[in-house]
Amino acid sequence: MKREATLIPGDGVGPEITQATLQVLDALGMQFEWDEQYGGMAAVEKAGTPLPNATLDSIRRTRLALKGPLTTPVGGGYRSVNVALRQEFDLYANVRPTKTIIPGGRFSGVDLVIIRENTEGMYVGLDHVFRVGDDPKAVAQAMSVMTRDGCMRVCRYAFEYAKKNGRKKVTIVHKANILKATSALFLESGKRVAKEYAGSIACDDKIVDNAAMQLVIKPEQFDVIVTTNLFGDILSDEASGLVGGLGLAPGANIGTHAAIFEAVHGSAPDIAGQGIANPSAQMFAAAMMLDHVGETAAGTRLRRAVETAIVKDNVRTKDLGGSASTADFANAVARRA
Ligand code: NAD
Repeated sequence: MKREATLIPGDGVGPEITQATLQVLDALGMQFEWDEQYGGMAAVEKAGTPLPNATLDSIRRTRLALKGPLTTPVGGGYRSVNVALRQEFDLYANVRPTKTIIPGGRFSGVDLVIIRENTEGMYVGLDHVFRVGDDPKAVAQAMSVMTRDGCMRVCRYAFEYAKKNGRKKVTIVHKANILKATSALFLESGKRVAKEYAGSIACDDKIVDNAAMQLVIKPEQFDVIVTTNLFGDILSDEASGLVGGLGLAPGANIGTHAAIFEAVHGSAPDIAGQGIANPSAQMFAAAMMLDHVGETAAGTRLRRAVETAIVKDNVRTKDLGGSASTADFANAVARRA
């Protein structure tokens, strides 16, 4: 029986990398019944809104989506589609694996996963300016909101993820020494969850500035990192920079009722339509989606096929120093699938 899933090819390079990914899923014999929907600029052009109800209804029904990057229209008062999707489906855990694929780079042996709280903290949208005298922006204020439930569920997700994926350690990253209410609540919650896994998953904690430095000095020391929204946003891009950039970085947004898988990069308007985008991140995102639905053997095969095409077959797109087109790369991965 084919599993139904929503497919949002997205904007810019989105349709190109999505097409390449579907080709590889096909080669793996993994068939989904795709319900294709629009988001971002493609949806503004077709339906007058970046996030049409039909797209939301589809995800509500399938609870599973593979999404290309979406361009958030500048101006016109549109809010970020990605943030809106996270809020709509309460996608509380953002999962970003980072692994060394290409040998001989600055870092070898990196194999870590950052799990970022995706709905609270500095991203709740309480960001204001206040007028004083003639200056309408004399004071700016942002508010971070953390809840015990929000902290507990993402920390629990991180430990469960570690257990299911054979990981050994969870590092709680925080700034509890300064943010004695919000970040301390996160740390306290993480430590409480850690007790439930004592003996099977180790736990330590690091202050975020030290964690950022340790990531570039000795990234191999990290296994799973769990952290709050803003810190996770920054650290996960830093981590992907250690191993070849955003072209290789997948992400999953996990909620209780839906999960959305995507490449981490944006719509890359500078190279859109040229057939040269690297589809690896979207393929790795599809592999995470396979893991999520229990097809872990297929997920592993897909990851290996991408790695083999890059490392052994030396088929590389321009961002990785090669000259392969998106289609060349898709063919190379399909052959290895
Ligand atoms: P970007 O990630 O699109 O591009 C940054 C640089 O990386 C560009 O030089 C681009 O050519 C390159 N790049 C990105 N993906 C690549 C790939 N697969 N292969 C080869 N090179 C690649 O970031 P940006 O330019 O800041 O953003 C462009 C648009 O994307 C904006 O509208 C932004 O809002 C949107 N965006 C969407 C998402 C998402 O939907 N998840 C994420 C980030 C940005």
